[in-house]
Amino acid sequence: MEIAHSLQQIKSSYIREILIAAADKNIISLAGGLPDAKTFPLDLMKATFKKLTDMPEVFQYDATIGYAPLLKYLSHYYQLAPTHIAMICTGSQQGLDLIARAYINPNDCIIMEAPSYLGAMQVFGLVQANIQTISTTHDGPNVSELEDAFIKHNPKMFYGVPDFHNPTGICWSLETRQQVAKLCIQYDVTFIEDAPYRELRFTGEPLPMVSHFCADNAIVLRSFSKIASPGLRIAAVTAKKSYLEPLLKIKQGADLHSSVPIQALLLDLLQHPDFPEHIKTIQSLYKKRYHVLFSELKKQLPEGCELKPVDGGMFIWLSLPPCDTFALAKTLIKNGVAVVPSPVFYPHPENTPSALRLNFTNANSSELREAVSRLCRVLNATLISTQ
Ligand code: PMP
Repeated sequence: MEIAHSLQQIKSSYIREILIAAADKNIISLAGGLPDAKTFPLDLMKATFKKLTDMPEVFQYDATIGYAPLLKYLSHYYQLAPTHIAMICTGSQQGLDLIARAYINPNDCIIMEAPSYLGAMQVFGLVQANIQTISTTHDGPNVSELEDAFIKHNPKMFYGVPDFHNPTGICWSLETRQQVAKLCIQYDVTFIEDAPYRELRFTGEPLPMVSHFCADNAIVLRSFSKIASPGLRIAAVTAKKSYLEPLLKIKQGADLHSSVPIQALLLDLLQHPDFPEHIKTIQSLYKKRYHVLFSELKKQLPEGCELKPVDGGMFIWLSLPPCDTFALAKTLIKNGVAVVPSPVFYPHPENTPSALRLNFTNANSSELREAVSRLCRVLNATLISTQ
């Protein structure tokens, strides 16, 4: 049977291939975006696991929008305006998929940063969006390019990850946040604020979300994958009610609703008195690992490689002199370290800057040290021989 035209354009995920290779126990993986499984707050969930057996009502079908007590808690926690609502999704990846299917017709324009989150490129690719990109600076998207793109392409949406971007780790400055919000209002473009890493800040103070400055022009995706566990598959999407109603129609057709026992479990976890301490623990663990990775790279990287510090999240972006990053990633696998090459993060991957995305949350400090020495040994050999 012939597959749908929309799917024929989607290339198989290189990350998935790399992750399969990286499962080999001799390889240290800096490739995935995995939190450390040892940090999952299973102890904090133990009592609820037991309690659930006395709650037959959560094992029944429920409302598409989500488990009412969780929605009530989140509306209060996110201080939603009376015009705004929350809905629960099966991970923020489903939220992105629902947004794409609810709003994008083939060739409708959406603007993204380049590089950008691969999973967002996939869902917008599947609905055959016309994806246009703008470049990023250390402070976030280039706002003058953004305004030009708004004028030239008349997009429906601008998709961004302002807090500790995947793949670059960049955190948008306050000024950039305000300017982006202003442009979205001025040109009536909806800002899709994807914020799965927001709570993983380990340096400095949190900045207001972009949607704080353009609440009526924004849809916000908040994931619990990085602060609780990705396997729970729970995220919240918030926006004004009229924006979310079409998503609810599609979600009903997709999966009726997300798992109710898991929503009940998450609610108890969020309300657990020790949950804030759990977040502090992962922040300081990831901070320590980030410092190991960053400082070892600084010591050992060959000339021509560039590294920008980050204040949180899970990734560092290592810029390289022009080279074949796919071939490099393959050589690195053979030398026991997995990384992700930059072209996979660009919707139009031709002639993209050479870089590698490095994750620092899943390997421990001694593995990170060993990974850096393997990585730098290969970089020193290949980059010097290609110069
Ligand atoms: N958005 C971004 C930017 C991500 O990096 C990820 C996961 N890596 C997701 C969304 C999907 O997260 P979830 O587990 O909530 O589906």
